[in-house]
Amino acid sequence: MDMRVFDLFKIGVGPSSSHTVGPMIAARRFLLECPDLFKASKVQVGLYGSLALTGIGHATDKAVLLGLMGETPQDIAPETVDDKLATLATSGIMHLLGEYSIKFDILDDLLWFKKEVLPGHPNGMRFTLTRSDGSVYEKIFYSTGGGFIYSAEELQQDGTATEKEVVAVPYPFGTMAELLAHGKHSGKSIAAMLRENELSHCSADELDAGLDRIWNVMSHCIDRGLQITGELPGGLHVQRRAAKLWLTANNTTNVLPHDGMHKVSLYAMAVNEENAAGGRVVTAPTNGAAGIIPAILRYYSKDCKPSNPEQGIRNFMLVAAAIGMLCKKNASISGAEIGCQGEVGVACAMAAAGLTAALGGSNEQIETAAEIGIEHHLGMTCDPIGGLVQIPCIERNGMGAVKAITAASLALKSDGVHHVSLDQAIETMRQTGFDMQAKYKETSLGGLAIHVITVNHAAC
Ligand code: SF4
Repeated sequence: MDMRVFDLFKIGVGPSSSHTVGPMIAARRFLLECPDLFKASKVQVGLYGSLALTGIGHATDKAVLLGLMGETPQDIAPETVDDKLATLATSGIMHLLGEYSIKFDILDDLLWFKKEVLPGHPNGMRFTLTRSDGSVYEKIFYSTGGGFIYSAEELQQDGTATEKEVVAVPYPFGTMAELLAHGKHSGKSIAAMLRENELSHCSADELDAGLDRIWNVMSHCIDRGLQITGELPGGLHVQRRAAKLWLTANNTTNVLPHDGMHKVSLYAMAVNEENAAGGRVVTAPTNGAAGIIPAILRYYSKDCKPSNPEQGIRNFMLVAAAIGMLCKKNASISGAEIGCQGEVGVACAMAAAGLTAALGGSNEQIETAAEIGIEHHLGMTCDPIGGLVQIPCIERNGMGAVKAITAASLALKSDGVHHVSLDQAIETMRQTGFDMQAKYKETSLGGLAIHVITVNHAAC
């Protein structure tokens, strides 16, 4: 499997990995690969399918413009975004990659094709650059979820990035069955095998520093979300709740047995409120589902009182990434492709597996936890109201986090023997997603998205 832990966990900005992070990376990459960029006189970007239908709510337009300016999701300071876009809107001048200036009209040069879908994936983008000598350079990219992007050519080659060198690893796997077989043969845990695979790409110090950095960003995101109140952007007038509820969550009067679960929900919602506000988040495996893994990591490191939290957190992330890789390879992590089961469902499975590993579960128990996480999200649609990553997404992360703990608990108390394998659950998710009607796949044309608008109109 040509995927790394850091492909699953990418530092970026909200609100969406497929509609914000991916398009920003694609826009920048298009220009970086364009021959004779200095001759550019015009650039146009066409957004297709789900990117066009929910792109405004998901800030796809802003992401593409920032990518053309040369910004990257991991380095851009979220607080500078509005100023950069305001300058472009008033001046009508785009500085491509920050260097080459051309005229750019947001209304004429950023095009929305809501009724057209490009053949490779529901999230398609067509970039066209015209040079001063009249020559044209054009490229299609797809954003396939979790910040992954592929050119049309790469997607045709089964999603293998042409320019990416394939590195041999000691424990190659394409299914959970293969990973479990490696474990049986070597006597190693999934975390140990993933670690050895990663060490084919980098040193142990680099790996640990990278994992620690990811957890740091996640943890800060929780802390910010538990402090900030107010209304989220986008016009739905959704109020942030995590910070307000957190104030009473540590109350020592009227303590109830499920208060611990309440706190876990708030950790997750804090992250997703930050995501909805365009803040700094980590794809895990996507932005829409970014709250679940940080919430369970916080729960593990703080509430489970582990003896070696540093190592436990690293093992958690390695194992969670293994599950995310299997879901990405054998199904999808894109809401536009298979609904929310591929985002919140996968994040739940990753978190359940990670927690099981960190708490000392066997490889078989890890599989059980991940399978339970997927199985109980099968068929879950993606129907965000107003195309914003707010309702149902924020609460849904809280629910996904609680389910992840339940899944891990069931697995840890079992002998690891179970009827449905993870590979079967992932294949079921894939098939269910492809059978799902397009209106339930990040188009905001069905489900909660239209029902709530209908009700509101009726009330008027
Ligand atoms: S409903 Fe789920 S898949 Fe859809 S935008 Fe929200 S979190 Fe993402």
